[in-house]
Amino acid sequence: MAELLKKLKRFLIIFLIALAALVIWAVYTGHAAPFIEWIHALWQDSHPSITEQNVPPVEGELEGTVRIHFIDVGQGDATFIEFGDGTCMLVDAGIAERGPDVISYIRALGYERIDCILATHPHQDHIGGLDVVIRAFDVGQVWAPDATNTTLAYYDFLAACEDTGESIATARLGETLMRGSGYRADCIGPRKGAYFSDLNQASAIVLLQVGETRVLLPADASTETIGRATNIHIDVLKVGHHGSSTSTSSWLVERLAPEVAIISYGVGNPYGLPTSQVLSALSSTELYGTGANGTVVVELDGSTVSVTAEREGRPKSGAGSYREDSPSPEIYPDDPSTFQEFIEELHDKLFGTG
Ligand SMILES: [Zn+2]
Repeated sequence: MAELLKKLKRFLIIFLIALAALVIWAVYTGHAAPFIEWIHALWQDSHPSITEQNVPPVEGELEGTVRIHFIDVGQGDATFIEFGDGTCMLVDAGIAERGPDVISYIRALGYERIDCILATHPHQDHIGGLDVVIRAFDVGQVWAPDATNTTLAYYDFLAACEDTGESIATARLGETLMRGSGYRADCIGPRKGAYFSDLNQASAIVLLQVGETRVLLPADASTETIGRATNIHIDVLKVGHHGSSTSTSSWLVERLAPEVAIISYGVGNPYGLPTSQVLSALSSTELYGTGANGTVVVELDGSTVSVTAEREGRPKSGAGSYREDSPSPEIYPDDPSTFQEFIEELHDKLFGTG
């Protein structure tokens, strides 16, 4: 009996040492990140941040209409909002090659100043074109979540802000991006101090309210993150993550019950987007996609929503175009370690945290 107890004790000690080694390895190599994120999410208040009870109030009467342009930038995102009172806002500007197209699109609408620019998260299909836009216009305020990426696209974005003397305000829950008579655009995610294992989860989520109507721009945040941000009824949903199944589910569509949805994607993208699951979750929603319809313009007058698109069509699943071996679209510098220090220094300086 004593022999057995001794054996059991030895086994327990070896087991505990192995477990400790596994935990240290997982934390050190980053394998524990999704688990830490899960714990963090559990620990957070399980109720959504924005509910029907605490939606930020819209004050005043709308002058004219608000027009939202979901600009066709191929595989990527670029959303331009005209508030009708002369002010405007840009959310992302596609990949670097599409930056000039975004500039000409905004100039053709007659703007020389962009009051608010939001870089939703540091992935090149969102921020790639922002550097040239920031250099081309008189810019009011630049916003971005507190997340960095050691890529050339992110460096170009920071460098454009530094060269033009722009500081960057931290986009997170509780910040109002734009506000005027009859409308407001609020950042409803990420929460302060949120932990990200994946940069898509750092996505700044925008709730735009125009009179009684609501538009949600969740960038590439996941279904769970969007669900934790809000459970209110949304009239117009910009479908998350270019129609990826990670950002839209039947559960989320039921919860937000959007009447109109727009997917920003490029036909033949190597990720197979949008997915058939997302299209079927949105089967009873009036659906548009930049791949199928070109640039889509949504007009809001405070109570109604009207949509015009460059061409007719309905988004089709990109399943056939999926390539497992598709190269990473991000471009990294030759010497990542010194570059990382450089990026962090620039980031801290521009965000005012240095
Ligand atoms: Zn994206």
